[in-house]
Amino acid sequence: MTRRSPATGGNGSLPVVPPGEKPGVARPDDIRRHNLARVLGEVHGEGALSRAELTRRLLLSRSTIRALVTDLCDLGLVEESVPVGGERAGRPSHVVAPRPDGPYALAVDVEVDRLVIAAVTLGGTLVRRYVRVLGAADRSAPAVARIMAEEVRTVAAELPASCWPIGLGVSVPGTVGKASGFIAAAPNLHWYGEPLGPMLQELLPHLPVALGNDADMGVLAEHLRGAARRATDVVYLTGKVGVGAGILVNGQPLRGAAGLAGEIGHTVLDPAGPACHCGVRGCVESLIGEAALLRLSGRTGQPDPEAVASVLADARAGDPAARAGVRQVGRDLGRVLANLVNLLNPEVIVLGGALADIFEAARADVLTVVDAQAMAAARATVDFRVSPLGADSSLLGAAELAFRNLLTDPLAAPSGRLHAARGVHPSSRVTESARHPDIA
Ligand SMILES: [Zn+2]
Repeated sequence: MTRRSPATGGNGSLPVVPPGEKPGVARPDDIRRHNLARVLGEVHGEGALSRAELTRRLLLSRSTIRALVTDLCDLGLVEESVPVGGERAGRPSHVVAPRPDGPYALAVDVEVDRLVIAAVTLGGTLVRRYVRVLGAADRSAPAVARIMAEEVRTVAAELPASCWPIGLGVSVPGTVGKASGFIAAAPNLHWYGEPLGPMLQELLPHLPVALGNDADMGVLAEHLRGAARRATDVVYLTGKVGVGAGILVNGQPLRGAAGLAGEIGHTVLDPAGPACHCGVRGCVESLIGEAALLRLSGRTGQPDPEAVASVLADARAGDPAARAGVRQVGRDLGRVLANLVNLLNPEVIVLGGALADIFEAARADVLTVVDAQAMAAARATVDFRVSPLGADSSLLGAAELAFRNLLTDPLAAPSGRLHAARGVHPSSRVTESARHPDIA
């Protein structure tokens, strides 16, 4: 590094000084790692940024940004280009973007009756996305782990050999123990105390595996690239078969003592309400979940996205029973939102899953209840938004889990460093049989 190093230019917090060293003196290597992570994080969040914009955002000198970007290019993580027409525009600022043949995250969204499997590049681009419907016999945790490992290997084998998998992130509709990868409870899957993380790690021994709750993954994705960008106090309320909330407070995820916060689906809204499968009456999930929508619309059959879409289409077409069901769920959704507004004073509440569709279909009913039941001052500052990421919020959030280590320390990406050390375009050297050795 030159003397105009980030040591004097950065405004972010510097790394913690290791024990035994003088406080206040960060080592140049730590500062470089820290600033590489900041640059890569910005590029990942935006998809592409000019060097000039990076200089402005990170308050680093132009020469420091140039050196950091050069390092990230050498690591095979980003590439630079000159904008079209830039040659004639005097001194164009180079655009820094993730390399399309660089690292990618493998992500799986576990739903009750299906898995959604994807590969996501730096910058958040979905390059592969598949749905695998699970038969009734395939829904145990060991079976899901085995199928997931198969699907993940298949997706990885389809990608060019020059790309490398950085990890697997898994979104689960249940409570995931902090750091353990154990599913404490996923009631809709009938999983209790299932070691899904360790099972997956055994099946994919060289691929780092991380698990998270689906609503927690959703709020992560909405905050980074969805409806809650730049907001600091956010709730992502999702309703599929189950109902859950992912919560950011002051920009930080609210996890709770054991990582289980946000289980609003099993808080009681009406003690005289219908019995919930958790054993309690009148839970939020029993009033606004997919099964409730079907029941209140006079439908029979299993709740799934197709059945919900059918009710919503019928409601739009004027079917009285479907319309009544959607409006009743909308009013109960309004009660849940009012409670969230009063409890957390969020800036944005993002609605995902079937709740996004119900909000749009019964907006007036929902907001009438919110206006009547939420504290006026907190109601005045909250914005309700529908997820622009659609059904993929949790999936994209799971990819963020997989990227976390790389984004924390870009120098620690082993495959990237290996490719850079070879000094060649990796695809010219890696043979078919050797590709993706990490997960073969
Ligand atoms: Zn319940």
